[in-house]
Amino acid sequence: VDVPSAKSVRRAPIAPDVPASAVPLTALAGVGPLRARKLEALGLRSVHDLLCTPPRRLDTSPALVPIATAKSELGLVRRIRGKVASFRFSRFGRRTLVRVAIEDASGSVDALFFNQPWLRERFRRGDEVELIGRAVTASGTALVVLKLGSEQSPLPREDALEPIYPSTEGVTQEWLRGLIERALAEHGQRVSERLDRERLRACDLPELPQAIREVHAPSSPANFERARRRIALEPLVALQASLLARRRERASGRALVAQIGEREQRELLARFPFALTHGQLRAIEDLRADLARAAPMRRLLQGDVGSGKTALGVYACMLIAAAGGQAAFLAPTELLAEQHRRGMLALLERAGLRSALLVGALGARERRQILAGLAAGEIDLVFGTHALLEPDVRFRRLALAVIDEQHRFGVAQRERVFDKGPDVHGLLMTATPIPRSLALTIYGDLDVSVLRERPPGRQPIVTRWLREPKELAHELGARLERGELVYWVVPRIDGEDEDALGAEQRYERLRTQTLARHGLELVHGRMPSAERNARLARFHSGEARLLVATTVIEVGVDEPRATAIVIEAAERLGLAQLHQLRGRVGRGTNASSCYLLGKQSAGERFEVLERTNDGFAIAEEDLRRRGMGDLVGARQAGDNREGLANDESDLELILLARELAAQGAIEQRAAPFTQ
Ligand code: ADP
Ligand code: MG
Repeated sequence: VDVPSAKSVRRAPIAPDVPASAVPLTALAGVGPLRARKLEALGLRSVHDLLCTPPRRLDTSPALVPIATAKSELGLVRRIRGKVASFRFSRFGRRTLVRVAIEDASGSVDALFFNQPWLRERFRRGDEVELIGRAVTASGTALVVLKLGSEQSPLPREDALEPIYPSTEGVTQEWLRGLIERALAEHGQRVSERLDRERLRACDLPELPQAIREVHAPSSPANFERARRRIALEPLVALQASLLARRRERASGRALVAQIGEREQRELLARFPFALTHGQLRAIEDLRADLARAAPMRRLLQGDVGSGKTALGVYACMLIAAAGGQAAFLAPTELLAEQHRRGMLALLERAGLRSALLVGALGARERRQILAGLAAGEIDLVFGTHALLEPDVRFRRLALAVIDEQHRFGVAQRERVFDKGPDVHGLLMTATPIPRSLALTIYGDLDVSVLRERPPGRQPIVTRWLREPKELAHELGARLERGELVYWVVPRIDGEDEDALGAEQRYERLRTQTLARHGLELVHGRMPSAERNARLARFHSGEARLLVATTVIEVGVDEPRATAIVIEAAERLGLAQLHQLRGRVGRGTNASSCYLLGKQSAGERFEVLERTNDGFAIAEEDLRRRGMGDLVGARQAGDNREGLANDESDLELILLARELAAQGAIEQRAAPFTQ
């Protein structure tokens, strides 16, 4: 009688019309719950996912060389063939080594097999063996064997293209490769092309079934690349489809409709203490149109440091308040939240709007009062930090959330404020420009307004990397003498040694110098916020004209009379952060300077800053250096998206994905980044 094995009993047959995306990995022999979990950590859930795992890269299997050549260069991976001359087995505690001497006409070498004790029975003197190994020194030059050819599994052909997969603990290269081979053989026919074939052909991309065969058994580097791109489209199209679905869902929303006539609009704009720039007016038109709709707004306002985004956020809040809704203005630091409110208070009061400040440092009574005011609808506009996200903060009718420096907030935090009202309009503001490819993926469901110009009369900031900081005292002295204010930034609070002073040590040093005559103050993140504010107030009043600070002043501190910033140990900071910091000056009408003191190792970065003041150019440069995933922290652990937008060259692919998603070809999956 034919008794089925335990394995085949467990794995029930799967109907032929079930798509690969509905076949769990446990349907494959050798994948139990434990392995399935490990694969899931690589982002693989279904057979479809597995087949669409693009290899990280392509390797070429090494060509055969004489043993003497294989020994000649340490570190290289080589293929040799020869006869077994002798072999030895040894054991050190739990580890084992099989050492096999192999010789050919050119010489002999020891091949090392670590922790494979079963191989001790494998070799006989005179056996012909072929293997691939890496040359190392181990009592003479030896080869650590990476692959041993055998009858059942011969080595790949010389120069064969070998896909290299992402591996993790418990999921080795070899195992994954074998698994993919089996999955292809057993379930390959379940993968079908759902995207527009015409369109793919026009883009010189293979259809999916062909692509997965090519990518796992490449016929040429060029074909492999085409196949990789087709496979990379899978997650991109799924992401675009879900973004599209969310956009459609929003279109039927019931957000507060805030309409305003021409005359009221003119009156409102006239309340601002300055004439708005053309860029600001354009963004205002975008906001006005968005807020006049019942579909909740999702707009990203991108503008370089100092371009005047705050006024636009406040404009949106005022529109909403006029229509009877409440608005929340979220900032990443207490300093910034306070400053926003302080800067806009006069304007808001004149417009008859009631505002409040909700930050973590509030006393319990004051906090209770504000919460009551929000719940009763007595407060029109609340400025605040993460404190606004607490569950007990409730609104009567939250209709708009403005999120300043939005990249400082996590996705979940941004969503939490939107959940505090029915169909809340959202305005996200950032000075960190987002490259287009990213804007279309992570931010694919946002509309974007860009502020390129800065308010008139601004002087460009002249940036200099000083190798010799001697002249600094003189230049700063002259500025302080004229009544201008100066920042001196040191990234760390405490220094390590003489070469790397902290802000505290720098402050102590400066205290003994003549510059201190103009008043000297110190702020950093470790002091209580009341203390910090008191010290900042002395700076703003001009009592202390030289301010030593850590990067706490990076966002928000707005002081038009500050005309110079020194950034010490600047090599510790990234390009974008340096640019943001230098944006603390050049906010008035006097010529401003940024002095970078830093190590040669970061010289290239400093030169970029010397060359340009354009935040967009800097962001692009930053991206080139760091890679896109890093820029937004988007490459989440365990998220298997090798094909996802590694550089601008994939922009084309993203645009194609968007177009294909709009055709509705692919079933919808959850958007991984935006929830
Ligand atoms: P951002 O948030 O974009 O970095 P802010 O909104 O803080 O910039 O504005 C920077 C400074 O420019 C503030 O002092 C603000 O009052 C001022 N400002 C904004 N718009 C204008 C304008 N149109 N004309 C003159 N000054 C402006
Ligand atoms: Mg700002």
